[in-house]
Amino acid sequence: MKVGIIGLGLIGGSIAKAIREKHSDAVIVVYNRSADPLKKALKDGIANQVTMECDEEFKDCDFIFLCTPVQTNITFLDKLAPFLSEKTILTDVGSTKVNIHEAVDKIVPDACFIGGHPMAGKEKSSYDNSSAKLLSGAYYFLTPSDNASDEDTDRLKELIRSMGCTPKIVEPENHDFIVGAISHIPHLAAYTLVKLVKDEDSSEEIMRETCAGGFKDITRVASSDPTMWEEICMANKDNLISLLDKYIDDLEEVRDALVKGDNEGLHNFFADIKEYRKSIVG
Ligand code: NAD
Repeated sequence: MKVGIIGLGLIGGSIAKAIREKHSDAVIVVYNRSADPLKKALKDGIANQVTMECDEEFKDCDFIFLCTPVQTNITFLDKLAPFLSEKTILTDVGSTKVNIHEAVDKIVPDACFIGGHPMAGKEKSSYDNSSAKLLSGAYYFLTPSDNASDEDTDRLKELIRSMGCTPKIVEPENHDFIVGAISHIPHLAAYTLVKLVKDEDSSEEIMRETCAGGFKDITRVASSDPTMWEEICMANKDNLISLLDKYIDDLEEVRDALVKGDNEGLHNFFADIKEYRKSIVG
């Protein structure tokens, strides 16, 4: 099996490490724009070949994973086009799917493309923070294009399962709405909560100094890479605008209950949500 990885950061590195762990004889070819992670991947025995150009090394891959930020992944499609063969399944790990499917249809319409998105990650970027364990136990969305046969999808599913993930097939539009609600809005909530504290803190910064576990848990992802999140939000802006409208309505409901002194309304709001939160398993 020959696997190409474009972008050796947190997710590209974790995929390469998970494949190496489960498929010791796989040939893993890696592109990265900077040399440092490539040197480390060679030294770690994760990569067999490395390159700072998207070139012939990617010929005859069974799988190619695009692992750069969501808009940047698109810029690699025409560079890879000459090296996609009959057996190559082209996939990505980007957090949005409609934009990459539209670009693939335009730039490499004959490619066997299956969008992908592992529901695992963290706020820290880069190869240094990657690990095979990061993906283990995670759901992994797949969005097969019309060019991908059931057999192609099964090949990718098998690889994903071998990394310890559970594949979940969805339409690209549905994917973007789902992750808008469970990932993108929570990031916006985290960024804006930190902003609230930053704006309201005293000159002695007592809030910053004393904030405890709850605040740190809920805002952990506000340490994520701004460029990555700028690209994700812009690629999913229509869903995010309508989900934000709904979220603002919910905040208004809480505010109204406070203004009216509606203890019962506030209690019922919390009780309802607590029950649903309990149903979300670890
Ligand atoms: P990262 O910053 O750790 O890695 C990004 C990689 O892309 C690096 O190798 C970097 O060199 C490369 N890159 C960035 N800009 C580039 C450019 N202009 N040209 C060439 N290479 C460039 O980020 P990551 O967390 O691994 O995210 C990669 C992808 O994974 C993104 O599409 C993201 O949406 C998706 N994703 C991230 C998470 C997460 O929690 N971090 C989870 C699931 C999916």
